[in-house]
Amino acid sequence: PSFRHGIRWDRAQALLAREVAAFVQRNPRSQSLSQRAQKHLMFGVPLHWMNDWGTPFALQVAKAQGVDITDADGHTLVDFCLGDTGAMFGHAPTVVVQAIAQQAAQGMTAMLGGEDAAVVGELFHAHFGLTHWQFAMTATDANRYVLRWLRAASGRKKLLVFNGCYHGTIEDVFVDLVDGVPTQRDSLLGQVHDLTAHTVVVEFNDLAALEAALAKGDIACVLAEPAMTNIGMVLPEPGFWEAAQTLIKKHGAALVLDETHTISCGPGGYTRAQGLQPDALVVGKPVGGGLPCAAYGFSAEWAARVVHAKRTAPPGHSGIGTTLSGNLLAMAAMRATLSELMTPAVYAPMLALSHTLAEGLRTRIAQRRLPWCVTQLGARSEFQFRTTPPRNGSEAGDALDSDLEHLIHLALLNRGVMITPFHNMMLICPSTTAAHVQQLLDTFDNVLDALCHG
Ligand code: PMP
Repeated sequence: PSFRHGIRWDRAQALLAREVAAFVQRNPRSQSLSQRAQKHLMFGVPLHWMNDWGTPFALQVAKAQGVDITDADGHTLVDFCLGDTGAMFGHAPTVVVQAIAQQAAQGMTAMLGGEDAAVVGELFHAHFGLTHWQFAMTATDANRYVLRWLRAASGRKKLLVFNGCYHGTIEDVFVDLVDGVPTQRDSLLGQVHDLTAHTVVVEFNDLAALEAALAKGDIACVLAEPAMTNIGMVLPEPGFWEAAQTLIKKHGAALVLDETHTISCGPGGYTRAQGLQPDALVVGKPVGGGLPCAAYGFSAEWAARVVHAKRTAPPGHSGIGTTLSGNLLAMAAMRATLSELMTPAVYAPMLALSHTLAEGLRTRIAQRRLPWCVTQLGARSEFQFRTTPPRNGSEAGDALDSDLEHLIHLALLNRGVMITPFHNMMLICPSTTAAHVQQLLDTFDNVLDALCHG
């Protein structure tokens, strides 16, 4: 028989058939709602990514509270996906629900700020250390704006990213190393510009390649997650960021850290937890407690250059911003989230439970001698289909197997546990308890038994 990642593939296929049948049987109401939505929604869902789950049709949500999702058929699922991080502080967190209910009754958007604006600026400074902030609705937009500001402020055109990165649908980042050659990602739709003209890509943890690229003197900024999370997780090697920061500074580029996922490491992200000193920082997804919000900040030095670029530009459209960015509702949501949820006291049990989960997964993988490993980044962890943690995007990408991932996710879902549809990510929120973690581990055991023994 043939094996994939230590799994007998004929057994996996047989299990898949059983799990698909079980899902259909278990979710009649989801199936009929999903059929109804096919008529007037393209792809049958509000966003086509919602079909990226390994389910035969899209599961329909009735409500989501804390760590629980109740689906349309009335099952309660323990949610370790948490909206792929948007709900990392739990679904419908009370403090945010109250803050936005109160603000909604007093106006949602006016293209003006109020008291919350100054307070939110102070909160972001206190959390992340950077001095000057602006807001967007999504992390994608925040990254796009930072890149535009830094190109304008530096007069340099090029962006440097790490191979296998993801920073939202900002076009510029979709360049991969294919056999060492920068290549535009072929899955991009409707993209007509040559992205390789202004995007430079090197492997993560490769200081020599980083230095060689920076030495040309044309890189405006390096945009990076402090630890990669979007091609599977890749941690920086000891000393990588210290050396990289020095190189970036030496060559006059700016370092932008995208903390949208690594905010799982603590109230100031990986940056604060590890004492990094970026020139700019982006964070989106959970910063509004689930409401669409994102923020980006600059150091005082780069903020001065950015402001100068704006003040000396011809009057007219800057091409940066959207009408609802920084709206009254968003500011109220971020104020509540940063002051009440992004605190050391809220994070401490999340980090401890995430450690328990990662250790528990390791034990179960080792018991079956599967060639898999587990990586943890604060409240986020992930199992990967290789024996040792990957050192860069190429190694991490080689370990992805969407067929096997989808099978495991579907089998977990049928047993009441939900993990992220993209690779094998699991997040802990403030409402996750030790019992929930144990439930995931027991279910994981159960699914591995079905996979390994048929
Ligand atoms: N940055 C990072 C690191 C991300 O992981 C993502 C989304 N996965 C984004 C930015 C984009 O977030 P959004 O889709 O909310 O714009």
